[in-house]
Amino acid sequence: MKRVTLPDGTSVPALGQGTWMMAEGRGDRAAEIAALRAGIDKGLTLIDTAEMYGDGASEELVGEAIAGRRDGLFIVTKVLPSNASRIGTTMACEHSLRRLKIDRIDLYLLHWRGGVPLTETVEAFEALVEAGKIARWGVSNFDVDDLEELGEITDVGECAANQVLYNPEHRGIEYDLLPYQHTARMPVMAYSPIGQGGRLLRSPALVSIARRHNATPAQVALAWALRQEGVIAIPKAGTVGHAEENAGAAALTLTGEDIAEIDAAYPAPKRKQPLAMI
Ligand code: NDP
Repeated sequence: MKRVTLPDGTSVPALGQGTWMMAEGRGDRAAEIAALRAGIDKGLTLIDTAEMYGDGASEELVGEAIAGRRDGLFIVTKVLPSNASRIGTTMACEHSLRRLKIDRIDLYLLHWRGGVPLTETVEAFEALVEAGKIARWGVSNFDVDDLEELGEITDVGECAANQVLYNPEHRGIEYDLLPYQHTARMPVMAYSPIGQGGRLLRSPALVSIARRHNATPAQVALAWALRQEGVIAIPKAGTVGHAEENAGAAALTLTGEDIAEIDAAYPAPKRKQPLAMI
C-alpha cells in the first residue's frame, strides 16, 4: 500500500475509507460495519468521519466497527463550523471521542469555514493537542487564500491536511491548491474520489482503461487520484465487495496512455477555478 507522510512525519496509507451516509437508515448497518472491517483487513486503516454525518451516528458506527482493533488505525473526524468556537470545539471533540469510543483522535479537521474566527478554532485545536485529545489538526474545503490566511495566524506546517473534493470531474485544485499544498508538504485528502458512485464510473474513458487493466472504473478513479505524491483518497463503501474492490486500487498503476485518455475526457484546469464543494 502506497503511503503518505504527514508534516509531523507520521505515515498513513494513501487509501482510506469514508463514512458519509453510513448509519443513516438507507444502508444496512451490519453490512456497513462489515465493509469497514473488510477495508481495514485490506490495509484501508485510515477512516474518515464527522460529527455532522448522521448527526453523530456515523461516528458511533465507526466506534462499533473499530472496537477491539484500535491499534494501527488512523481516525479522522471533523468539527462543524457552527461548533468551532474555543469552547464549542472542545465540547464537540469530547462528544466525538465518546461516540467513537477512543481516547484520542488522530486527525481533527474543521469541516469548512464558517463564522467563527480562524484564530479561535486554531487555539482550540492547539489546546486539544496539548491535552492529548487529538494528535493533530487540519482543515477541509480550504482554498489557497484560506490556507494563506491560516499561515498568517499560525505555522501552516501545523496543519496536517486539507480535505477537498477531487476526482476527474472536479480537478480545479490542480491549478493552484495542489501545487501550494505540495510546496507546504501538506497532504490533500481527496473526498468523493469515485464521484459518489455516479456517472464518473460510467464514463467511456474510465470504462475502457479499466478493461485494459482488468480492473474496474472505481479502481481507475482511485489510482488516478493516487498517481500524485501527497494525495490520500477516502472512498466510501457500504459493502464488503466495494471495500475490497477499492482496496485493490492500490495495486493499479496507470500508464501515460491512461492518464492522457482521462485528460482528454476531463481536461486539467487552465485557469483558477473556485473551489468545488459538496
Ligand atoms: P465516494 O466518491 O466515496 O462514493 C461513494 C459512493 O460510491 C457510494 O454510493 C458507494 O456505494 C459507491 N461505491 C463505493 N465503492 C464503489 C465501487 N467500488 N464501485 C461502485 N460504486 C462504489 O463519495 P463520498 O461523497 O462518500 O466521499 C467519500 C468520503 O469523503 C465521504 O464518505 C466522507 O467521509 C468524505 N467527504 C468529505 C466531505 C467534506 O466536506 N470534507 C464532503 C464529502 C465527502 P456503496 O455505499 O453501495 O458501496
